[in-house]
Amino acid sequence: MTSMRNGGCDCQPRVRVSQEGSVLSYVDAGGEQFWIDVLQETLKYGLAPRSWTDYLYLTVGGTLSNAGVSGQAFLHGPQISNVYELDVITGKGEMVTCSEDHKPDLFFAVLGGLGQFGIITRARIALEPAPQMVRWVRLIYTNFEAFARDQEKLISLDDGKEEFNYVEGSILMDHNVGNNWRSSFFSERDLGRISSLAAHHGAVYCLEGARYYDKAMVHMVDKVRVFP
Ligand SMILES: Cc1cc2nc3c(=O)[nH]c(=O)nc-3n(C[C@H](O)[C@H](O)[C@H](O)COP(=O)(O)OP(=O)(O)OC[C@H]3O[C@@H](n4cnc5c(N)ncnc54)[C@H](O)[C@@H]3O)c2cc1C
Repeated sequence: MTSMRNGGCDCQPRVRVSQEGSVLSYVDAGGEQFWIDVLQETLKYGLAPRSWTDYLYLTVGGTLSNAGVSGQAFLHGPQISNVYELDVITGKGEMVTCSEDHKPDLFFAVLGGLGQFGIITRARIALEPAPQMVRWVRLIYTNFEAFARDQEKLISLDDGKEEFNYVEGSILMDHNVGNNWRSSFFSERDLGRISSLAAHHGAVYCLEGARYYDKAMVHMVDKVRVFP
């Protein structure tokens, strides 16, 4: 697919943002495009896709033929639930445009179809205003019930004020705390503490959440207390 990126089609840009009125925004992206490149283009318009994977150097066709799951899925569904239209090359070699209303059998077979029902050459993907700022939290639990209870609480908040935009969870064994987590979030001291908790309890659970906000909401975000 990556060979389409530079030489496949010289007549159309392979990532193109469109806005219809004030509500409907979408991007037409080639199946070979990396999500990071889709994001860079949509950000020029102050827009971003609604649903993501954690890692962005994956192709549009690659994740849409699986599901595309990350912390926004509880709000918007996986990436395959945020597609308006596809161009697909079928097994008969035909190029077909399909959507929920036009050739829906092909559309829903290809989305999440593991590449078995056709090759995605273009996807029309829903956009929303890109967040200006993000408050990012990671909470470590030693008790699975408490972790699961809090995670369920976060995904069921709907009062508009304390709602999270991103919720994920992960399990950390003693041996993977250092390698996987040394990147950015926790200090070396905290990593040491997490590692000893994981060694002591066999595993720890990490609840990860994010809240999008803008300058006008800074004070509100500082005051949010989700858990008593
Ligand atoms: C480092 C890493 C992190 C990941 N993180 C996440 C994550 O957070 N969330 C998540 O949901 N998934 C995640 N994945 C899994 C990812 O969604 C799948 O591996 C996906 O297939 C990767 O896309 P790709 O561009 O690498 O596809 P490729 O490796 O190029 O292709 C994989 C398969 O996808 C199909 N395919 C690829 N392109 C097309 C196309 N244009 N049309 C039809 N079928 C096609 C084919 O069956 C192909 O064999 C991750 C994968 C990696 C490697």
